Order: sequence, then structure tokens, then C-alpha cells
Amino acid sequence: MNLVLFGPPGCGKGTQAKRLVEQRGWVQLSTGDMLRAARSAGTELGNRVAAVMDGGNLVSDEIVIELIEERLPEAEKAGGAIFDGFPRTVAQAEALDKALAARGAQVDRVIRLVVDNDELVRRMAKRAAEEGRADDTVEAFKVRLEAYETQTAPLIPYYTASGKVVEVDGMGSIEAVSAAIATALDD
Ligand code: AMP
Repeated sequence: MNLVLFGPPGCGKGTQAKRLVEQRGWVQLSTGDMLRAARSAGTELGNRVAAVMDGGNLVSDEIVIELIEERLPEAEKAGGAIFDGFPRTVAQAEALDKALAARGAQVDRVIRLVVDNDELVRRMAKRAAEEGRADDTVEAFKVRLEAYETQTAPLIPYYTASGKVVEVDGMGSIEAVSAAIATALDD
């Protein structure tokens, strides 16, 4: 199963991806987590992307595509990949299609978590207090929402055209959203 968890920043992709890892043994492929790990490790890549991330902008397609490609064999072995925060541009989605096709696979399902903007901002403020992420500030979050609207939302028609998108109401409790995702996957 190659599952794309799709939605704006703060919609719950990471939380739900972690639950799917526990429930199904699949591998979470979060480019945000990979980039943050590179930064914590102080790698050249980490240093290169730091300012872009903290400002709320997207890093280059080439960087995240390479990070994802490196992890595909591991996900294939586990029997499932949960793409979390990737793809975020049409170019990334095309690269993912190509990389999966080369392995005889495809994106099987796209779960779109739908959460309204006021709730996203509330969740961001809560996470800022809990985790202290540098891009969880009002200013950077505004930029991230704009990046979502202009660069990532065009993926909705891209995936809808292939009939892969299932919409899930992301406004409920973590358990309720998790149950709705399970239904969408097992249907
Ligand atoms: P996230 O944890 O998914 O919200 O990502 C945090 C930040 O990492 C984003 O605001 C971007 O700066 C960068 N990032 C993560 N994933 C991608 C991606 N697929 N394409 C471009 N930038 C990304």
C-alpha cells in the first residue's frame, strides 16, 4: 500500500501517520521529519534548508525527492508507505509516480484530511507550546498556509483525476479521524 496523507499544515497528518505505523506496520515517510533530523544532526543539507524551513517556505523539489527515493526500498519491504507532507508540488507528485512505477508500484490511495483554517491555527499554537518548532509562529504559519494553497492544493485535481482521493473529516478527535481513515483504507 502506498498511501498519501494529504492536507494543510496542522491537519493531523503526522499524528495519523504514526497511528498507522503502529496499527499496520507500514513506514512513515515524512519529509518534514527527515529535514528536521538533518538539521539536528548538523549536516550540510540541514544547514542549507534551515532558513527556508523557518520562514515557512518549501525547500526545493530535488532535495525532498532524493530523500524519499532513498527510503522507498525500506517501505516496500514493510509492505506499505505512508507519505506524510510529501508530495507538496505537482513536480514532486510526478517524480513519486515515476519512482514508484520504476518499482512496479503506484500511489494506491490519497486520504485528504479536511480541517478549517481557524482550527489549523489553533492546533499550530498548541504545537508551538508543546514542541517549540521554529516554523510554528504566526508569521511562518501564514507563509506555510499560503504555500499549501498555491503549491500543494493543485495536487487535489491531480489525484482526483485518477480517482484515488478519499476525503476524511479531520475536525474530530484523533480517534474519530483514525477510525474514518481505517474505513477509507479497508473499503
Ligand atoms: P512539515 O513537517 O511537513 O510541516 O514540513 C516542515 C517544513 O519542511 C515545510 O514547511 C518545508 O519547509 C519543508 N518541507 C517538508 N516537506 C516538504 C516537501 N515535500 N517539499 C518542500 N518542502 C518540504
